[in-house]
Amino acid sequence: MQLIDGKTLAKTVQHSVAADVAQLKQEKNIVPGLAVIIVGDDPASHAYVGMKEKACKNVGFYSMVHKMPETISQSEIIEIIEMMNNNTHIDGILVQLPLPKHIDTDTILEVIDPKKDVDGFHPYNAGRLMTGLESFVACTPLGVMKMFEAYDIDLEGKDVCVVGASNIVGKPMASLLLNANATVTITHIHTKDLKAHTSRADIIIVGVGVPALIKADMVKEGAIVIDIGINRIADGSLVGDVDFKAVAPKCSYITPVPGGVGPMTIAMLLSNTLTSAKQRV
Ligand code: NAD
Repeated sequence: MQLIDGKTLAKTVQHSVAADVAQLKQEKNIVPGLAVIIVGDDPASHAYVGMKEKACKNVGFYSMVHKMPETISQSEIIEIIEMMNNNTHIDGILVQLPLPKHIDTDTILEVIDPKKDVDGFHPYNAGRLMTGLESFVACTPLGVMKMFEAYDIDLEGKDVCVVGASNIVGKPMASLLLNANATVTITHIHTKDLKAHTSRADIIIVGVGVPALIKADMVKEGAIVIDIGINRIADGSLVGDVDFKAVAPKCSYITPVPGGVGPMTIAMLLSNTLTSAKQRV
């Protein structure tokens, strides 16, 4: 069994982004800029935004965080996004999810200029990804693809079971895999017999938010297991969606939590923002 070390791979990506930022600054006087919008007081969301801010600083980006109270109206959020759409120092706009219940997430995401949609959540980018066209791709699935590439894992013809079908994780993951010629099964909460699907997969990619959902008897010998889940359990520690101790011995490759997909998500956010900055006119 080999661990896929997302932490180290993310550092490599960040170093390369930092080098490109320095060059962009020197040659074109461009400093990539990221605007983050966060609504409410959810501690996990604030922790993620803090990590993103720090990562931006480390690679030399300009970043601004708009912290808004839980009670803010939808039109006020839209106003800020429109300001960021028109701000020439901003290349990427990210709205930290989830948003409070009185805000319609789909409406908000559609206000972001697709050219600054570094999270890849705008239907324009999601549609382009689905049709195999160049687009901004959601950072978590993109990070998983980067892991496959770094570890020389060939996807062509592989049976891949994606567990979880959200717009930000499972669906873009499935599109990327399909574009890489894998045979993809997407499973979700309504799937009747999850084990029947996971146990025949060469690769299992799980992002649902249920600790230890994937157990050893659901995994074929030699399978590759990618754990996207992040769950804080009663003792305060972070775990994924895979029963890591029991599953790892059966795998050829597996990602740990923490230190797996999480750091790659942030690295891909930086990479997408850099790409956007390079496309400034
Ligand atoms: P979500 O709630 O939007 O979607 C969850 C998906 O899992 C749904 O499709 C649902 O049908 C499915 N699901 C739920 N319970 C299931 C079950 N028992 N069996 C099969 N499918 C089930 O969540 P999300 O935003 O997609 O996030 C999923 C997980 O990934 C969370 O733990 C989240 O914290 C994590 N996440 C991690 C990163 C990262 O950087 N590593 C990024 C985004 C999300």
